[in-house]
Amino acid sequence: MLVCCGAARNDERHRFSFPSIYLNAVQLVNDAWALSDEKFLYLKSLCDIDTRRRLVKLVISDEVKQVMGECIEWRRHLHENPELSFEEYDTTNYLENKLSELEGIVLRRYAKTGVVAILRGAKPGRTILLRADIDALPIQEDTGLPFASKRPGVMHACGHDGHTAMMLAAATILSKERDCLSGEVRFLFQHAEEQPPGGAAELARLGVMDGVDELYGLHLSSLYPTGHFGVRAGALTSATDRFEIDVVGKGGHSAYPEGAHDAIVMAAQVVLAIQTIVSRRVAATEPIVVSVCQINAGTAYNILPDEVHIVGSTRTFSEKTRKRLPKIMEDIVRGITETDDSTYRFRFVKGYASVVNDAALTSHCRNLIEKNFGHDATFDIEPLMPGEDYSALQGFCPGFFVELGARNEEKGIVYPHHNPHYLLDEDALQYGVEYWCDLVRDRLS
Ligand SMILES: [Zn+2]
Ligand SMILES: [Zn+2]
Repeated sequence: MLVCCGAARNDERHRFSFPSIYLNAVQLVNDAWALSDEKFLYLKSLCDIDTRRRLVKLVISDEVKQVMGECIEWRRHLHENPELSFEEYDTTNYLENKLSELEGIVLRRYAKTGVVAILRGAKPGRTILLRADIDALPIQEDTGLPFASKRPGVMHACGHDGHTAMMLAAATILSKERDCLSGEVRFLFQHAEEQPPGGAAELARLGVMDGVDELYGLHLSSLYPTGHFGVRAGALTSATDRFEIDVVGKGGHSAYPEGAHDAIVMAAQVVLAIQTIVSRRVAATEPIVVSVCQINAGTAYNILPDEVHIVGSTRTFSEKTRKRLPKIMEDIVRGITETDDSTYRFRFVKGYASVVNDAALTSHCRNLIEKNFGHDATFDIEPLMPGEDYSALQGFCPGFFVELGARNEEKGIVYPHHNPHYLLDEDALQYGVEYWCDLVRDRLS
């Protein structure tokens, strides 16, 4: 089947990456996609500004174009009906209904929510797992979208609705290509990415990675322009851990501080002192963040409280530094509280580990993306400070996680993730679907 090998289509794509034919290419696309005059003129005007980058959008295959209407419909349905981590029951039912209509797909639930769709090719080969996360966030949406969240206080503000719809679209396309695939693909619609301990760790414990040879992930990003793939070998996201400190002094009357052990003053010293971890205890070349995000104490303006509660988070890339942090922090807290004859409680709660991309697989995927989308479609990215629970699926086999741009300044789609105004450029979804399909065809060929 021609659609499986993709050779003819790839040749077609390459024709579009030569600067001399850009305007012809736009004309061809205008004919082929029956664009409106307005959109054609818009595309044409872009050729004069940033043609090479913009023309990334010309490489979407017919199979993907055909499913994009539905893909956007699915994404909007999911956006309108978001569910919090570990509570994605309606989302899972919705996905199972859609997936069960596909030929050759076997569904398996490992946890209460989330589902794995297994597609076995006609011939033996490697097993790969593609992961999309399906959960939303406890945020009140303020986008004004016609398909904004119907659930008060819950919003798809991280693009997981897009991840889910893209992978459902890829499964739809690839289920028709079973005869040409060698091996097995597991489409993991994963629950609870946003809420530690995370769904990925639970699934890894329950065996979702058993027999998997390669692992792949993708996140839409509001940092990068639509259709561009941010690639990084090695550490991609930080390890994200939480610390909790209770400074335990002795309360009293605000008029007589000499009779108390002032927990607030000690806590203030702790907050400042732990900032020196970044500047004095870790090499300047190493990315690290230590942030205090909550301080709670006191009941009245004239009472010195017994205790102050401090909560914050750390972001690290080096496992060695991650291991050192709790002791350094506790030493600081102990030192400060001991000088005022006081005590403390300290907890360091491990969150998500760093996502680390396999070098060889990263290089292979970069080449694949450039082959199919053009050389300008990829770019190197710096390490990202947010965490990703995908990391819990690592360690079983090599993996590659890519960031796909979904930012569009012209459309005003510029808000960061986890923001009540967060939007994603739906034009980005076609690149994700195309990428998943290309990847599966390549790895199971
Ligand atoms: Zn998020
Ligand atoms: Zn996310």
